[in-house]
Amino acid sequence: MAKFFGGIELGGTKTICGIGTQDGEILAEKRIPTTNPADVLSRCVDFFEEQIPIFGHLSAIGIASFGPVGLSAKFGYILRTPKEGWSNTDIVSPFRKVFDVPIGFDTDVNGAALGEWRWGAAQGLDTFIYFTIGTGIGGGGMINGDFMHGLSHPEMGHIPLLNLRPERFPHSAMKADSMPSKKSDKKNAPIKPFGSLDSLSVCPFHDDCFEGLASGPAIEKRWGSKAENLDTEHPAWEAEASLIARAMRSVICTLSPQRIILGGGVMEQSQLFPLIREKTIEELNGYMDLPKIDEFIVPVGLKGKAGILGAFILAERAMG
Ligand code: ADP
Ligand code: ZN
Repeated sequence: MAKFFGGIELGGTKTICGIGTQDGEILAEKRIPTTNPADVLSRCVDFFEEQIPIFGHLSAIGIASFGPVGLSAKFGYILRTPKEGWSNTDIVSPFRKVFDVPIGFDTDVNGAALGEWRWGAAQGLDTFIYFTIGTGIGGGGMINGDFMHGLSHPEMGHIPLLNLRPERFPHSAMKADSMPSKKSDKKNAPIKPFGSLDSLSVCPFHDDCFEGLASGPAIEKRWGSKAENLDTEHPAWEAEASLIARAMRSVICTLSPQRIILGGGVMEQSQLFPLIREKTIEELNGYMDLPKIDEFIVPVGLKGKAGILGAFILAERAMG
């Protein structure tokens, strides 16, 4: 008998719930703004209930959520998050109360990584990393065909980008207080050395982490304009690529991935890819042999669908 899965991609700004199959077909889908937990979770439960007359009972549910999330002691919870009203929220129980089916739960990036693995840019691999570079930065993926679960889940957005030597990162060097006021001034803006990283970081916990320095809001803070409004020639992209390449070096050396997939709003800027590839090679400085670089650091294959498709796989995996 055909199995139908309920999937939820719980994002910081929007939540997507859907009904899908084992083959990655999305049969129904609904977008809900991520307002407060009570409202969002009850709307997702209602959505699944409305689908039962059409598809029959769900076989399992998969939830891929923004984090940090609990995967052992507080399984199914969103833990301490800067998103107001969501810290310490039990995500899974409202579904358990209504649906008597297995429920899979993991991070949004692990969900998206699963989607990319089955149907997208990580097909055939067993050790790879998926990053989203958007409002925040998160990394997930697989090692030897399984998730990296341990203490909890990886928090690759918070790896430090230490030792940003201005001579190697000339374009990443600009203090928030030297920001030009008009867009037209930006190309000629004075570039100052990094110094007070804390004035640039948007991470409330760290003054030197990947997310703090290279997420969409970090770009906006440094350059005084939303990332999507900076033109493709703006020095911001060279700076961004330097920061991302530094993070690539860390994860390549730590996890030995066969491929790294870069997604999220900021990576819509396709001019970043050649810059990141070139700078990653420079960062590694000949120490490691890499595969063909444009097959090693790649864009997403599933364009915005990885999360919900991955949620269906989380559901399938929860069935055992
Ligand atoms: P979320 O992280 O909320 O799921 P996104 O991945 O779209 O959503 O990330 C939003 C962030 O990415 C914002 O900081 C925004 O400025 C930036 N962003 C969105 N689209 C683009 C784009 N086309 N180019 C550059 N930056 C973008
Ligand atoms: Zn941080």
